[in-house]
Amino acid sequence: MTTEAVASEAAQTAINAVEAHAAHNYRPLPVVLARGEGAWVWDADGRKYLDMLAGYSALNFGHRHPRLVAAAEAQLGRLTLTSRAFHNDLLGVFATELAALCGMDAILPMNTGAEAVETALKMARKWGYQRKGIPAGLAEIIVMGGNFHGRTTTIVGFSDDEGSRDGFGPFTPGFVRVEYGDAAALAVAITKNTAAVLLEPIQGEGGVIIPPEGYLRAVRDLCTRNNILMLADEIQSGLGRTGRTFACDHEDVVPDAYILGKALGGGILPVSAVAARRDVMDVFRPGDHGSTFGGNPLACAVGIEVVRMLATDEYQERARVLGAVLEDCLAALPASRVSAFRIRGLWAGIDVIGRSGRSVCEGLMRRGVLAKDTHGSTIRLAPPLVIERAELAWAVDQLAAELEA
Ligand SMILES: *Cc1c(COP(=O)(O)O)cnc(C)c1O
Repeated sequence: MTTEAVASEAAQTAINAVEAHAAHNYRPLPVVLARGEGAWVWDADGRKYLDMLAGYSALNFGHRHPRLVAAAEAQLGRLTLTSRAFHNDLLGVFATELAALCGMDAILPMNTGAEAVETALKMARKWGYQRKGIPAGLAEIIVMGGNFHGRTTTIVGFSDDEGSRDGFGPFTPGFVRVEYGDAAALAVAITKNTAAVLLEPIQGEGGVIIPPEGYLRAVRDLCTRNNILMLADEIQSGLGRTGRTFACDHEDVVPDAYILGKALGGGILPVSAVAARRDVMDVFRPGDHGSTFGGNPLACAVGIEVVRMLATDEYQERARVLGAVLEDCLAALPASRVSAFRIRGLWAGIDVIGRSGRSVCEGLMRRGVLAKDTHGSTIRLAPPLVIERAELAWAVDQLAAELEA
């Protein structure tokens, strides 16, 4: 199935309108999608593509999963938004079931990932002052080199990616950055004013960077011994992607809070949350924090279904089994074109040689495979967990052909 990537007139019109009237804060591949089902999407001209990005893991269950669409449609006929000024009849169910999936006591629902990260940062600072006794205004939060936690001014302020930061200062103080994967560097950075350590158990935007074995356990241990909250940003790594419910599970580590988003909304709407123990979550009092849309009944209806789908381990198992298939396929890629690859579950970063990641992704698009480059020469593969084995192998065949072209 080779596809001719010359955009039709209709597609070009759609692209031109975006160029003319939307902000230029993205540089999408020149493909205009009009329909999706499972692991596949179709462009405005009816050409079919295998989606190997899955909305940066927001589409772990694929496009329009029937269970999720049914949950959303049923709720659309009942009640969609209440605000938190009133109760709705689904938030309690969502909170109960998501907290149970996380092995935590309580959740705080938000919408986007960045909002959930901000929520965890506020929670950690307040916990630091109220529970740990850090003097007012002095709380420090340790973050990692190469991190990606979203796009708010506070969050980009502690990024070390110049493109994300440049021109957006001045930034929020109170963050200290250490090298990712280096527990000794973390130990040195801890002070009596450290409230929390924020990290991705696997760095997604960083290029699917998997820390050395034992690192997450060492972070957990340092946090416990120094009375510091371990905040795990599992927005991209969590909810089945790596073959376990959370990437922290691979080291049997339980953080003090999980930060969740992306797949929590089932690929339908933005749903995010922080999950934590009651003693930590209880630093929030009425009026402290909130969101007009957070915990809305439509989000809860979809989120409940997502949690129920994850509760059976079916999707985590798919990620484990298919991840092994993907690993074998990647190992067979030509060594002259691939300098390294990293994989955990159905999530891989492939460093290509001699080509920009962008040009490889453009070539893949012409071959009917959609993927996204990161950090110049890394191709990230994160297909929907509903993908079939043969489809996965076909996608890697296309990558091999493109790399050899
Ligand atoms: C995507 C992502 C975010 C931000 O989520 P948004 O919904 O885009 O705000 C935060 N952390 C990680 C690890 C992510 O992958």
